[in-house]
Amino acid sequence: MNELLDRYAEVTGMDVINHISQLAAPLKGMKVVHVNSTREGGGVAEVLRKLVPMMDALGLDVKWEVLEGNPLFYQCTKGFHNAIQGFQIDLSEAMLEAYETVNAENAERLRSVLEEADFVFIHDPQPAPFLSFCPNRRGKWVWRCHIDCSRPYRPVWKYLRKWIHSYDASIFSLAQFAQFLPHHQYLIAPSIDPLSEKNIDLPEEEIKGVFEHFGLKPDLPLILQVSRFDRFKDPLGVIDAFRQSRKMVPLQLVLAGGGATDDPEGGKVLDEVREAAEDEEDVHVLLLPPDAHRTINALQRASDIVLQKSIKEGFGLTVTEAMWKGKPVIGGDTGGIRLQVVDHFTGFRVRSPEGAALRIRYLLHNMDKLKEMGSRAKRLVLENFLLTRHLREYLALMIGVLHGLEDRIDMTR
Ligand code: UDP
Repeated sequence: MNELLDRYAEVTGMDVINHISQLAAPLKGMKVVHVNSTREGGGVAEVLRKLVPMMDALGLDVKWEVLEGNPLFYQCTKGFHNAIQGFQIDLSEAMLEAYETVNAENAERLRSVLEEADFVFIHDPQPAPFLSFCPNRRGKWVWRCHIDCSRPYRPVWKYLRKWIHSYDASIFSLAQFAQFLPHHQYLIAPSIDPLSEKNIDLPEEEIKGVFEHFGLKPDLPLILQVSRFDRFKDPLGVIDAFRQSRKMVPLQLVLAGGGATDDPEGGKVLDEVREAAEDEEDVHVLLLPPDAHRTINALQRASDIVLQKSIKEGFGLTVTEAMWKGKPVIGGDTGGIRLQVVDHFTGFRVRSPEGAALRIRYLLHNMDKLKEMGSRAKRLVLENFLLTRHLREYLALMIGVLHGLEDRIDMTR
């Protein structure tokens, strides 16, 4: 068997690997292309970096292509992102024109790869029009939405829908995100990779090393939020929760994040966060490079509690990463976090800085509960949110889409 699959078997057990190998057998040799808009930063790139080599290890002929945009294009697609997650955003003609032109140019550049593929997975709105620019496609095309689109701003969704409706299927992370579309919709939750630098076990000295490296206090409880600097992640709400908790319990806060190449708003939000944290002792705002995976791993392991106080979240990989490290997570009561954090069991879901502060204090005053929730969190991830489960669902989807409405699918070959 493949060396990569052997390594997964050590974490998940052999049954899981046998199962995905069986599902992959009828798909062997198929040409699969994934397209998104950045190779670094954010959850989509994080997932693809792992999913693609795993598909490859199973014998699929898989490629990962990245759309290349320009500033007006990214402004437009960030507008889509904000509008899909519920903000009223009106996009100018010039922006939409940039969106369509960039898509036409990129689709042209990748045309032969795309038209020859057996399966194309288009991730999020950025490359959604690709399908319309590939009239001679021969394979199945699936649109994968990673965003919380439970209540999209209608005019923008109406515009995007015209690019999406002719896909063969779409994938959402949660039932609540599904939309009226004239094709089958699949629900697949994202996952994390237990073997990646971001999630592997680390030596104790490396974990302790972050205290010295970032000037943190080794004896003070540490709470952490790792996120792009984005308003939907509510970093200012985290600082507010910290301020309220520290009146009752001593603690320190790290807000760690970086930018994504397709996110033009990050710098502005970072400035706001720095300003809010300026006079606050024991608040550390860390701007990390895109390859700081081990550092994030060590920070998550060094923390007592991890926060993800998002006000909208498709699926927060950072939540699952922290849970895998045995940490209770206090997450915003929204989107994918409702699936990830089992309230009062693996952490808490909150709706306000006050709520977050209350839960922080509770956990720091009840360390046995904190540990118990953390170990349940790890088990929940092992059973539900590792890459192997994610891959299994992609393979099952591919078989389903290929066979359409046939009554029976023969998997015994
Ligand atoms: N991440 C990172 N560096 C950062 C901030 C985030 O590597 O400075 C990673 C984080 O560990 C997670 C992913 O980027 O794996 C973010 O995914 P998530 O689903 O939490 O949020 P998104 O950015 O996709 O909204």
